[in-house]
Amino acid sequence: MPAHTALYPTRIVARGGRIGNATRPGHRADSGKIDAMRPTSLGSLRRAVDVGDVPRRGVRDELRDNLIERLRAGDPLFPGIVGYDDSVVPQVMNAILSRHCFIILGLRGQAKTRLLRGLTSLLDEALPVVDGCEINDDPLAPLCAACRTRVQAEGDDLPVAWLPRAARYVEKLATPDVTIADVIGDIDPIRAARGGLHLTDERAIHYGLLPRANRCIFAVNELPDLAGKIQVGLFNILQEGDIQIKGFPIRLPLDVLLAFTANPEDYTARGKIITPLKDRIGSEIRTHYPRTRHDAIAITAQEAWLERTADGAGPIMIPDYVREVVEEVAFQARADKKIDPRSGVSQRLPITCLENVVSNAERRALAAGEGPVARVTDVYAALPAITGKFELEYEGELRGADTVARTLIGAAVANVFGGWFDGIDTRTVVEWFDLGGTLQASDTVSSDALLAAAAEIQGLRELAAHAGAKADAEPPAVAAAVDFVLEGLCAQRKISRSEDWSYEASEEPRARARSGPPYVDPELQMPGAGRGGKKQYN
Ligand SMILES: [Zn+2]
Repeated sequence: MPAHTALYPTRIVARGGRIGNATRPGHRADSGKIDAMRPTSLGSLRRAVDVGDVPRRGVRDELRDNLIERLRAGDPLFPGIVGYDDSVVPQVMNAILSRHCFIILGLRGQAKTRLLRGLTSLLDEALPVVDGCEINDDPLAPLCAACRTRVQAEGDDLPVAWLPRAARYVEKLATPDVTIADVIGDIDPIRAARGGLHLTDERAIHYGLLPRANRCIFAVNELPDLAGKIQVGLFNILQEGDIQIKGFPIRLPLDVLLAFTANPEDYTARGKIITPLKDRIGSEIRTHYPRTRHDAIAITAQEAWLERTADGAGPIMIPDYVREVVEEVAFQARADKKIDPRSGVSQRLPITCLENVVSNAERRALAAGEGPVARVTDVYAALPAITGKFELEYEGELRGADTVARTLIGAAVANVFGGWFDGIDTRTVVEWFDLGGTLQASDTVSSDALLAAAAEIQGLRELAAHAGAKADAEPPAVAAAVDFVLEGLCAQRKISRSEDWSYEASEEPRARARSGPPYVDPELQMPGAGRGGKKQYN
């Protein structure tokens, strides 16, 4: 095969082609593109391979070749995966270029599965297989006994089907009850009886997931949960191309890219992974949570369901500081000693939290008949989307998930507020409260009502302007900014908020006399980037 054909595997696809193989359940038939140019028999396939029209290579070479093509074109490998461009993605690319089987180690909600699924885009658009073969045999060199017999009987007329790339990704979540029969296969006595076969005849085997993933990507999620003997089976496939079914050895040199995921602690725990399998996994790639608030906001904006319209109220506006607070809750949770770091805090926390924040804003807007704008106080209403997303350590258990979540939100608000109001004088507003003023609010109070109550507090509107509420802003946007200022001052303990949402003077008005930068409890600072707020507290 000329070298250049390997680099242009989509050539066949560009002409379109028949993708048949309707006997395979779950396989999508691409009926829209029918083209006689795509070989449909063994004879025509052989000729196409000989002249270089159809590439013929192992799956790992296929991935490598297509990746090289992608790199040469400068196209992104994993569109939609944010924050891994300089860390995880280059390592995955190196693993593919090295033709390695690899494992992705990471905590929950770090897009491990999505990374693996993204690999399918590196497969050829369609792959020629023996029509009807359970293990996607290469028509030019079939492995299974049935196909070998058919090649002998049918010769060049043997029908060839084209397997679309979407059907070439097989995924299995490992659990302790997964059996050898599930993964490798089993002897099917009914099949044996029907075919008049001996039980040890290869044709009496019902193939498991792995042989069915021949010439495909086989992904095993949570590898450490897979029983040792199945790990041995995987190792044997990787090493020798042999499998044993019910003690009956079968030579089956499968062509599979094995990719795994695991929690790093489970993976490194002694005895969870058999050493020879570990040894055969070419690359270990570690994922991570978003390193910056900016990346985290981008991920949440992409994943959360936010494109809604309230009746007659138009689209929902989410101020930047609300998005920052929502992300900061997750950053705070990941650094909090009351939360178990081994299970991690998934990015699904800010995603579901922001969805609930928006819903609360929607509800308020519908009741008040105003445009929906999310507020910082809506984050407290999103508690149900937060409490289930982390595992508590003992100390956290004592306090309860609700209390822990409220503390996290408070810390997040303090941190974000500290960034936005770095060096901004808030004393006028704080003094108003210290002189006995109170403001009754709630997370459902209408914007007009909140602004009317806030109007008498001197300096508050100026601070709201600093949070982005310009002079010509609509009342809901101004109300959201006022809410941010009040919650920020509460989080910094310069004022306080009672159980029934009344803002009043802080019990310990230590901040009153303080001048200069705003006080932030050092316990509350965020362990990463953030709006320039960090350097000040170090
Ligand atoms: Zn076959």
